Amino acid sequence: MFLPKLSFLSFLLASSGAAAVSIDAHYPHDPHTLSGCLLQFRIETLLPSSANFSTAIQPYNLRTGLGWVPTALVLPHTPQEVAAAIRCANKFNIKVAARSGGHSYGAYGLGGQNGSLVIDLQNFNMLSVDPKTQIATIGAGVRLGDIATYLYNNGKRALPHGMCGGVGLGGHILHGGFGYTSRMWGITLDTVLSITAVISTGQILTITSVSNPDLFWALRGAGSSFAIATSFQLQTQPAPSNAIIFNYTFPSSTSIPDKVSLFEKAQEFAATAPPELALRLMTRTASFPIVAEWQFVGAYWGSRGKFNEVIAPLLAAWPADTHAEISEQKWLQALDTFAMSSIVPPHPYNIHDTFFAKSLTTSVPISNGSLSSFFTFLRDNSNAPVTWWVLGDLYGGKYSKIASKGPEDASYAGRDALWTFQLYSVPKGFIPPYPSDGVEFMGRMHDSMTKVDGSSNWGAYPNYVDPTLAPREAHRLYYGSQYDRLREIKRRYDPEMRFWNPQAIGVE
Ligand SMILES: Cc1cc2nc3c(=O)[nH]c(=O)nc-3n(C[C@H](O)[C@H](O)[C@H](O)COP(=O)(O)OP(=O)(O)OC[C@H]3O[C@@H](n4cnc5c(N)ncnc54)[C@H](O)[C@@H]3O)c2cc1C
Repeated sequence: MFLPKLSFLSFLLASSGAAAVSIDAHYPHDPHTLSGCLLQFRIETLLPSSANFSTAIQPYNLRTGLGWVPTALVLPHTPQEVAAAIRCANKFNIKVAARSGGHSYGAYGLGGQNGSLVIDLQNFNMLSVDPKTQIATIGAGVRLGDIATYLYNNGKRALPHGMCGGVGLGGHILHGGFGYTSRMWGITLDTVLSITAVISTGQILTITSVSNPDLFWALRGAGSSFAIATSFQLQTQPAPSNAIIFNYTFPSSTSIPDKVSLFEKAQEFAATAPPELALRLMTRTASFPIVAEWQFVGAYWGSRGKFNEVIAPLLAAWPADTHAEISEQKWLQALDTFAMSSIVPPHPYNIHDTFFAKSLTTSVPISNGSLSSFFTFLRDNSNAPVTWWVLGDLYGGKYSKIASKGPEDASYAGRDALWTFQLYSVPKGFIPPYPSDGVEFMGRMHDSMTKVDGSSNWGAYPNYVDPTLAPREAHRLYYGSQYDRLREIKRRYDPEMRFWNPQAIGVE
């Protein structure tokens, strides 16, 4: 057992309900209804009366309150069908949401409310790589694990992306996309060369930095508010020949001042750590015995000898008896290790979890006071109503590729994040339902970090959407000073707010 992987935990909770769907030919033909309009264009559609509807709309996150019921779910096969579905929604003034992998923490792929039209991209499953340019063309509905294995098996290529094989490309790439190669290659959205997408008028566009600079900027960070992306052209990288996977574990008895000091030393080291290094703090409650209570884990994309050189200053700063586990792995093997199972997702996809998470980004080193407050909260709450764990990922540092671009490159606002924390919780013992006081507890956990230094440097990661945030708070935390430009582009391209979820750009 090595790195905790959310998908692994999800396997524990795998439901047997397959999401296979079929056309429902018996819905009303009345052209004065949404369903009649969709039928007119012969788009594969499921309505609440359809046999497979309840299975098809099951969100990844089964937490109570996220089971949004759409007015219809369509499964188009072409951008033209997506365009027709959007025109039908325009005609009947119905909000639209796209669903690619369905892994939104707030089930926003179902619209984040009842009554939306959901455009499911699962039929946009094309995958190819041009052997000359090594540019990949990938459908929005393809899952990360399928992308990784296809690219490696077709020319030993790779992309930077998250570690759960079941996450869909569409949502992931339009709101960030962080993984263990991101400090070296950037986040997933940094690989985008062009996006085929349908905008709110129903127009199909091939969007590049030259053809539609505003949309190209807005889609890469806040994509769900601007268009339905059907496919992407992405610049791939040669897959690294090997990875050094490391795990440094500290005793559960480590005191709060010692934990603070260990983190501060890692933070000091991180400021100039090379881009080939991925570093994550991991800590968890005692009721989550799968991993050690306090550890730093990660990967180095290079040789063992070079890794020893790189990590030496950190080890010199940490206690001499720090427990280390180091292994050398090939690319796909390393991806399986990060996934704590196979990176390849099951087909049909039938994995679910019941959870609530908060995220925290900081652009400056975390202070001694904030760390002390946070670690004290974690220690003093052994009677928490949930089983929780915390992942603190190093995004930044002087040599991080993520930080190498400015705010004008993309609307994604986390370029200057030094650390991104995820505070993740499930019902105790992984047995649903999620407790009613769990959200409040996780809020206090979050605040124990932020309350000491005020709010100015704290943000949140839009791919870990927190549906409990009011829209303005979400906009401030996800987009900061990028928000005003996003709002202006939304007014121009989607004045009717057709693409909607509770935290979409423009929602007040
Ligand atoms: C188990 C698990 C592990 C994860 N691991 C990581 C990780 O390692 N790194 C990381 O960065 N993130 C990770 N995430 C977060 C993940 O990146 C986001 O939840 C992501 O938005 C999911 O994309 P999706 O297409 O699967 O979800 P969906 O629910 O389909 O979509 C998410 C959002 O994007 C919109 N959207 C989806 N497709 C499109 C499209 N084609 N056009 C326009 N809008 C669209 C939806 O409307 C929704 O608002 C993880 C999530 C889970 C549940």
